[in-house]
Amino acid sequence: AKAEGRGIHRFFEPAMDVAVQARRGVELDLRVALAEQQFALAFQPFLDLTANRIAGFEALVRWHHPARGVVSPAAFVPVAEETGLIVPLGEWVLRRACQEAARWPDPVRVSVNLSPVQFRTGDIDATVIAALRDAGLDPHRLELEITEGVLLQDTPSTLAILHRLKGIGVRIAMDDFGTGYSSLGYLRAFPFDKIKIDRSFVADLSVRPDALAIVRAVTTLADSLGMSTTAEGVETEEQLAHLRGAGCTEVQGYLISRPVAAEAVAPMLGGA
Ligand code: C2E
Ligand code: CA
Ligand code: CA
Ligand code: CA
Repeated sequence: AKAEGRGIHRFFEPAMDVAVQARRGVELDLRVALAEQQFALAFQPFLDLTANRIAGFEALVRWHHPARGVVSPAAFVPVAEETGLIVPLGEWVLRRACQEAARWPDPVRVSVNLSPVQFRTGDIDATVIAALRDAGLDPHRLELEITEGVLLQDTPSTLAILHRLKGIGVRIAMDDFGTGYSSLGYLRAFPFDKIKIDRSFVADLSVRPDALAIVRAVTTLADSLGMSTTAEGVETEEQLAHLRGAGCTEVQGYLISRPVAAEAVAPMLGGA
């Protein structure tokens, strides 16, 4: 049994070392990236279906790695969260997004994704307020996207922080709605301004009739709670027609536009 144990040990340890080393490598790379400002924001518009105009843009972080090219957030946000680097990175994203949005015409909003880890430091509200003030952006033009993970932490300060931010006019959106385990409970825990219906439901719209029933139920529920809805990942005209019919407030996805560089935002808004 002892020999067998050693065998297993020998078999697994090198593989684990590789994973640990890879993560450590990403972590070191991330520290350099922060210091050398290798990050940039892409902006993806969301369209108001009633007014038929762009209501705002979601800021999505991109890492322009000197050797690996553009790295997707799915590849480094988890490591940034595990190492705590998401705190300085997230603050950079907030500040950059607010600065950019301050140059857009007034009702156009910017939407920023916040990680649960950013709430654990306890002063994310102060960080948001400072970013707004320094950029000269009206709080009504900032939207914060949080996932269930933020409320799952169940710290009393999380709700207090969200209420404080909402109190000064910042809009709070529930991201990836429908993918978690107790989404409905979270709608009672906090008065969100908007619900983002996850892309998986939108993708199913053309192939599964029950997906349409779910989207209809969510928009009706949101409506009765005074919340708006944004459908994510809209790729086809057929999906758009379904979402319009279901009474969705806003749509976002490749059909409207892929995420674009900051310089491409003004032309989309009809400016130069
Ligand atoms: P998310 O917040 O759900 O963002 C939507 C993702 O779907 C984006 O991927 C976007 O590019 C992609 N997408 C948009 N429209 C379509 C479509 O029509 N079809 C398909 N297939 N995909 C579409 P991206 O930019 O790779 O971001 C992935 C995730 O990384 C985001 O998911 C978000 O959770 C996270 N993330 C991005 N930026 C930040 C950030 O600044 N801070 C934090 N904490 N997380 C971020
Ligand atoms: Ca989001
Ligand atoms: Ca989402
Ligand atoms: Ca997502």
